Amino acid sequence: MVQFHHVTKTYPRTHTHALKDVDFRIRKGEFVYITGHSGAGKSTLLSLILRRFAPTEGSVYILGQDLSKLRESKLPYLRRKIGMVFQNHRLLGHFSALENLVFALRATGERGNLEQRALSTLRQVSLAHKRKAYPIELSLGEQQRVAIARALVTNPPLLLCDEPTGNLDPDTSWEILELLNDLNIKGTTVIVATHSRDLVDRLRHRTVVLRNGQLVRDDEVGGYSL
Ligand code: ADP
Repeated sequence: MVQFHHVTKTYPRTHTHALKDVDFRIRKGEFVYITGHSGAGKSTLLSLILRRFAPTEGSVYILGQDLSKLRESKLPYLRRKIGMVFQNHRLLGHFSALENLVFALRATGERGNLEQRALSTLRQVSLAHKRKAYPIELSLGEQQRVAIARALVTNPPLLLCDEPTGNLDPDTSWEILELLNDLNIKGTTVIVATHSRDLVDRLRHRTVVLRNGQLVRDDEVGGYSL
């Protein structure tokens, strides 16, 4: 699903070595935390998966494809296969929950009965009854669940989450984590970038730890503090 082959990323303007010789592979169906303190390189790693930019050295493969060989015109196809969840839900405030999902579907060029597909995805996150609610009428946890539904609506095989519980209280964080876990059990490969110890310790999964751009631990059993 995802392979980093001796990846180094240096930001040229500041000569920051954000990732240094990072090498790992994530198989289909895995749930993996990417952890490390702020500045460790987590966001850089996610950006490389989305090919927001290329590595300075090494190669990134997504779904078997070498991203350095991917033409610019094919980028939208890559990104359609990757659902993205952010710390701030980034929902459109003037659209209802359902409309946010329909908009995401339409943006990828999908046609047909989009409302029906959007509704069944809202059902997956147990929010069909809130389909008409605007983001401001939802709790933070519900907003994040709608954001997860939006990321899933195109049925991507890979879900990337960047600090998905960063703005949430512990109980709501747990709900979101359980939802991500359910989605993983149903087959979606899930990658969660987080600096939160609680998250990683609470629901154990493979944990990749970055420190100053280096992969210092890759632990199948998981947990932050081992
Ligand atoms: P994390 O997501 O773990 O907080 P980042 O990947 O954002 O880490 O950052 C890794 C390092 O790269 C940090 O030292 C950060 O200051 C630097 N960095 C991140 N983005 C840029 C950028 N666009 N230009 C220059 N340096 C950057």
